[in-house]
Amino acid sequence: MGDTVETPESIARSDGLVTASLVVVLPDEPLPVQLMNTIWADRGGVHDVLTTTGNLHAWLTAVQAGEEAPDPDPGDLQRFRALRDALRRLAALLTDDARPAAASATADIEQAVTDLNSAAAHAPTWPQLTYHDGELHQSTAGHATATQRALSSLAHQAIHLLTGEDRMKLHACYAPGCVLYFVKNHPRREWCSTACGNRARAARHYQRHYKSPPDSSPT
Ligand SMILES: [Zn+2]
Repeated sequence: MGDTVETPESIARSDGLVTASLVVVLPDEPLPVQLMNTIWADRGGVHDVLTTTGNLHAWLTAVQAGEEAPDPDPGDLQRFRALRDALRRLAALLTDDARPAAASATADIEQAVTDLNSAAAHAPTWPQLTYHDGELHQSTAGHATATQRALSSLAHQAIHLLTGEDRMKLHACYAPGCVLYFVKNHPRREWCSTACGNRARAARHYQRHYKSPPDSSPT
């Protein structure tokens, strides 16, 4: 399973045209975790995917978060960023995350809960029955825009994730430099990706054989 997961680094290396703004990491994770992982890191530092409405549009399209084409405005961008930061704060709470570089922009847990609930209530939707091709179908209806419905839907899924059975499977990846979260979908999975596992093993190997990393040795 881990072999199919792409890391930001592997994507960036395999295609030089891919920029930080378009990277979708760990595409097999549940949508709320994919939203958390719009903050990711490589050797260049920590990156944020959701910096413009265009990037939010690209991300929503890439992860297929809504039923219709999204057309986000600046208010949507601000709400998605607030939801993302809330989810990262609550994930840190659940996983006892001690990674300094992964710390959420929203430090206060009460604020994170408020922001998540605000997103969940932002665009009420209801199931709707349609009849076509001789069959009955279910779709989702609501008064808000496609982007706002995607926001609320993501918040609903996040509440289920953070309170349901899978909450104990949510993990922070402790490979060197990684700031991602993942749902541990099999018992032996220790890292978010194969690349992180390889990097963590290399770091352990190095620590066993050398006293200090090469960068810090005296010149
Ligand atoms: Zn990782």
